Amino acid sequence: MTEQNITSNETTVSTLCKRCSASPSVVNLRTEHLCSNCFDKYIRSKCIKRMEAYRVRYSPPDTDTSPRRLLLPLSFGISSTTLLHLLNSQLQNQLARTTRTGFVLVVVHIDESAIDSTVPPGEESMRAVQERFPDVGEYLVVKLEGVYEFPSAVRAFEMGAEGSRGGDWKEKLKDLLGALPSPTSRMDVLRILRTRLIAGLAQKHACEAVLWGDTTTRLAEKTLAETAKGRGFSVPWQTSDGDSPYGIKFLHPLRDLLKKELAVYVSLEAPTPLHPLCFGVAKGKKKYAAVGKGITIDELMTQYFEGIEGQYPSIVANVVRTAGKLVTEGGVVRIGRCKICGLPRDGGGGELVLDAGTKLGEGSSGEVNGNGSDMCYGCARSVHGARPYERPS
Ligand SMILES: [Zn+2]
Ligand SMILES: [Zn+2]
Repeated sequence: MTEQNITSNETTVSTLCKRCSASPSVVNLRTEHLCSNCFDKYIRSKCIKRMEAYRVRYSPPDTDTSPRRLLLPLSFGISSTTLLHLLNSQLQNQLARTTRTGFVLVVVHIDESAIDSTVPPGEESMRAVQERFPDVGEYLVVKLEGVYEFPSAVRAFEMGAEGSRGGDWKEKLKDLLGALPSPTSRMDVLRILRTRLIAGLAQKHACEAVLWGDTTTRLAEKTLAETAKGRGFSVPWQTSDGDSPYGIKFLHPLRDLLKKELAVYVSLEAPTPLHPLCFGVAKGKKKYAAVGKGITIDELMTQYFEGIEGQYPSIVANVVRTAGKLVTEGGVVRIGRCKICGLPRDGGGGELVLDAGTKLGEGSSGEVNGNGSDMCYGCARSVHGARPYERPS
């Protein structure tokens, strides 16, 4: 019997579990050796603590009222798949105890095959996940270009006279990303579109919150990546739990867990093997294999924190905690919103004058003055140098 070590990639000969003293340990969690059952309890407890508001006793006692709806974006990665599994168990427990549940899920996978032809459409993977967790709620696969269904999400990107109505959504999406100047800005705008699409879908499907799978590690990556990209000002709104700038709550139930802990969790065969459902994992690993060449800021931060989380978990946690404290009271009232990412912004974007000929946002909202001052610094940089895309003939 061997155990996996959170602080390194080594496996060691296991000792007895420190909590139950009955079973052999399978994981060395920072300083504690745990068996698979106790590790499972540990992971569950972290998630349940963050889902306190959705316990059955807080839901309306009248069984006729429809249950609270929560949207879970599923990428088939380790974190979102684990989150779905944990929420499924929470719902099963609620049903067993009270015959009611505190919430239902709308599980959504965003199909990005329009911009990456190597991505499978997702329906097949979704079916496998649904077979495994049939009772959590609804399952949807939505194409990324579906973001054009939500005019407020894409208004700032509309180029030329076509406006938000006409045109082939898939082609428009390709044109938009093709016009951006660098891999970092493409990845940045892609992330914005994804977030805006998910927020739009959550509202469309009458959900009261989005449950993101982000771990402490992921939130720390986001904190430094967004800061490096010039969006440090809005980090608190991107990483904290509660009302988001998109008119819907954002929650991160896995925010007290490390990515590495989840990687060990999904690899365990007991009590329930999750790795067969993590369809997105192998592909993600390949994506940022080469350091240096064309690597984006987001990928760099991912590599950095994945490298240090095992040895320095408290540094990772501190990055997130500090960022959360930066919210100033009443701040959102004073400050404007960026028209691209929709997040609160400082005045920074105005210093960056876009290239002549840039059509981004022009004429779409009537408030564009041609120098990007209604954008945050991060978005102004991302679309800096963007020009109407010449489609290869
Ligand atoms: Zn144990
Ligand atoms: Zn912005």
